[in-house]
Amino acid sequence: MAFDLTARLAQRRAADLYRQRPLLQSPQGPQVVVDGQPLLAFCNNDYLGLANHPEVIAAWRAGAERWGVGGGASHLVIGHSTPHHELEEALAELTGRPRALLFSTGYMANLGVITALVGQGDSVLQDRLNHASLLDGGLLSGARFSRYLHNDVQSLASRLDKAVGDCLVVTDGVFSMDGDMADLPTLAAVAKARGAWLMVDDAHGLGTLGAQGGGVVEHFGLGVDQVPVLIGTLGKACGTAGAFVAGSDELIEALVQFARPYIYTTSQPPALACATLKSLELLRRESWRREHLDGLIAQFRRGAADIGLQLMDSSTPIQPIVIGDSARAIELSRQLRARGLLVTAIRPPTVPAGSARLRVTLSAAHSEAQVQLLLDALADCYPQREPGDA
Ligand SMILES: *Cc1c(COP(=O)(O)O)cnc(C)c1O
Repeated sequence: MAFDLTARLAQRRAADLYRQRPLLQSPQGPQVVVDGQPLLAFCNNDYLGLANHPEVIAAWRAGAERWGVGGGASHLVIGHSTPHHELEEALAELTGRPRALLFSTGYMANLGVITALVGQGDSVLQDRLNHASLLDGGLLSGARFSRYLHNDVQSLASRLDKAVGDCLVVTDGVFSMDGDMADLPTLAAVAKARGAWLMVDDAHGLGTLGAQGGGVVEHFGLGVDQVPVLIGTLGKACGTAGAFVAGSDELIEALVQFARPYIYTTSQPPALACATLKSLELLRRESWRREHLDGLIAQFRRGAADIGLQLMDSSTPIQPIVIGDSARAIELSRQLRARGLLVTAIRPPTVPAGSARLRVTLSAAHSEAQVQLLLDALADCYPQREPGDA
C-alpha cells in the first residue's frame, strides 16, 4: 500500500529518532518557559542576545508604523523597499563586500545561489558535514555532486582534479553541529588555484567572529577574491530573520536574474529589515557582547574538561558534548531537563550515525553563574551511572 505513514513513523520511533517540537511559551532567551516548565536554555542560536532586545523591538515597531507589515510583492515587481535596500548596503559593508542581496531565509539563499551558479555539466563539491540546505541546493542544481571529507583539503583537491564545467566548492564557515571552523585560507587557495569558486555559509560566524562581527571572512581576513560567494543568515546572531548573499556586483546581478528562490517569493516585511538594521548597529557598537561570549565559551570548556566531558574542537558558541548513542543522548537531555536545564539532543540524520550529541549553545545573554549551573548539572548527570550501581 502506498503512503504507509503509520509504519514509517513507527520505524522512526523504534530507532529513537522520533522528533517532537517543544512548545516555547515565552520570548527567546536564557530563561524560557517550555511546555509549561520554566527552564534555563542552552540551545538557541541567539548568540548575541538580540532576539528580544528592546532597541530591536522598538525599531521593528517604528518600521511597521512607517512601512506597514507586509512586503506586498516580490522584489522584482514592487516589493523591494528602502529598508531592504539600506539593509543590503549595511550587510555589504559589514562583510567587506561590494554588494549584498537579501533573501527571506538562509535555506532559500543556499538553494537560490547554488542552483543559479551551477547546473548540468558543472560540478559542486561540498564538505560532507555541510548544512542540509547546502546539500539540498547541490542536489537540486543537477550539477555533478560530490562530498569531500570534513575540512580535508587533500580530499577536496583530488575531487577538484576530476571536476567538470564550472566548479563551486561549498562549505559552512562554522559547522553547525560540531562548532569547528572551516580552514578557509587553505580551502580558498586550493579552490582558486584550480579555477573553482568558494562559497561559504557563515550562518553561525556572522556577528560572533571578527572584531566588528563581520564573521569568518573578517576573522581570517578573506576578501571577495578568496571567497567570491558569502552567505550570512540573520536569524542567529542578528536575532531577527532572513539571510543574504554577498559578493561582486556581477554575482548579485546574476542572482537577481537567475536565483528562483529570490525571484518567486514575496519580499520579507520591510519592518523586519528595520529591526535587522538596528541589530547590525548593536552588533558592531557593542563589542562587549562578543567579548562576554568568548569568556563564557572559555569558562564552559575549562569546566567541561574538569568533569571529563568529551567536547569537540570548537572555539565558537556551539559546544557539543559527544554521546554517541541516540537513546543515551535523549536520556541525558531528559535528566538535565529534570534539573531545570534545556539542552537539545541532536541525533542522526542531522549528525552522522553513532555521533548523537548534546548540542550546547552559549549566548552573550547568559551569565557566568548560569554557565556554572549547567556545568554543575552536567557533573551530576555525566558519566551516567550504570544500572545496578549504588
Ligand atoms: C540555520 C542555518 C541555515 C538556514 O538559515 P535560515 O535562515 O534559518 O533558513 C543555513 N545554513 C546554516 C549553516 C545554518 O546553520
